[in-house]
Amino acid sequence: MTIKKYYNLAKIKLFPITRSLTGNGVRKSLSIIQKEFSKLKIKKFKSGTKVFDWNIPEEWNVSEAYVIDKYNNKIIDFKENNLHLVGYSTPIKKSITKKELFKNLYYLKNQPKAIPYITSYYKKRWGFCISYNEYKIFNKRYFPNDKFKVVINSNLNKKGSLNYGELILKGKSKKEILISTYICHPSMANDNISGLIVTMGLINYFKNKKLNKTLRFVFIPETIGSISYLSKNLKYLKENVIGGYNITCIGDERQHSCMFSKYQNSPSDEAVIQAYKLLKIKRYKIYSFLERGSDERQYNSPGIDLKISSIFRSKYGQYPEYHTSLDNFNLITLKGCNGGFNVVRKSIEILLERIYPKYKIICEPQMGKRGLYPTLSLKNKKKFTKNYMNFLQHADGTNSLEKISSLIHIDLKSVKKINQILSKNFLVN
Ligand code: ZN
Repeated sequence: MTIKKYYNLAKIKLFPITRSLTGNGVRKSLSIIQKEFSKLKIKKFKSGTKVFDWNIPEEWNVSEAYVIDKYNNKIIDFKENNLHLVGYSTPIKKSITKKELFKNLYYLKNQPKAIPYITSYYKKRWGFCISYNEYKIFNKRYFPNDKFKVVINSNLNKKGSLNYGELILKGKSKKEILISTYICHPSMANDNISGLIVTMGLINYFKNKKLNKTLRFVFIPETIGSISYLSKNLKYLKENVIGGYNITCIGDERQHSCMFSKYQNSPSDEAVIQAYKLLKIKRYKIYSFLERGSDERQYNSPGIDLKISSIFRSKYGQYPEYHTSLDNFNLITLKGCNGGFNVVRKSIEILLERIYPKYKIICEPQMGKRGLYPTLSLKNKKKFTKNYMNFLQHADGTNSLEKISSLIHIDLKSVKKINQILSKNFLVN
């Protein structure tokens, strides 16, 4: 099983696209993915729509952005690298001085070859990003009163929309596993593109399989996308999602890592650790939920609490190329992506396979009328009943049979038997 096809597709077609929270780049990326999987639905929220405490932003598109010097040389050009433009830059067409231009230039002194990735979604401004080496050259070459022509041909549309993709693979049960990845970063590989590669690999792997549970895949812009998706689907998700993963930064070869859901005891947390074990991956890092930075923030918020974990190779913020032009296809490899893919695939298989019994009756059921409780209180029969009651106490939908077995100190075989009897009697499902 390989995800080579999606690695190559992403490298050639998806990587170069200018993506942002909204706009043509997101739609184009989604339609490339839809060509692979016709079941993918491309949906939208209109700009200005209120989603919880937020509003869907105006749709941003850009056709050109550059700076021309007094010798008529184009010294910065968005067409050469889309990271050169600060995301959501407002339009401008103006002649300005070196001083004014330099106020709107961003660079990283400690990474002189890298173009930083910068956005300004919620405050209106414009700017360009360049490497520190370029900055030094410009600084030497031009006098303070030199003039520059700055052109940013961008558009902020109040009547635009925010797009996202959703693909559901129906299983036998309505119980769902949610896989979420984001689609809002421009040309960077580990942070963003690797998530798309692995998620496409997962859809391809599971699409023709008989599934015990339903798989829901979403491709959304980070933060505002998950917030708006949750605002629309929360009730259904809360009823049916048993766990799942946020997939990002999963394509390099340096390490395996994951982030548990908030209380570190969810089915998804257990499944990823079991997956490392089954895949014989001995070295991995578990990040604390306090180090969160992606959509796990929304999925585990109070009131949402979908118990979503994250699976990474080198996590965002933890590798030097992060949010710069150095995060490219030199960093992510097919081998790295395949390694990440295998961990997620295995974790999903564990979640699909395992049974998480859930009570159907509030408080202890009356066992006697179901013939599950001795009507005479005989000493030796009590133990058997106690096992039923212990099982039911833990059947809250978040514990697997394996976990219940260890919680109530009974072997797995007997726990499976108890589950069968209780579900036959409509006490759990
Ligand atoms: Zn990022």
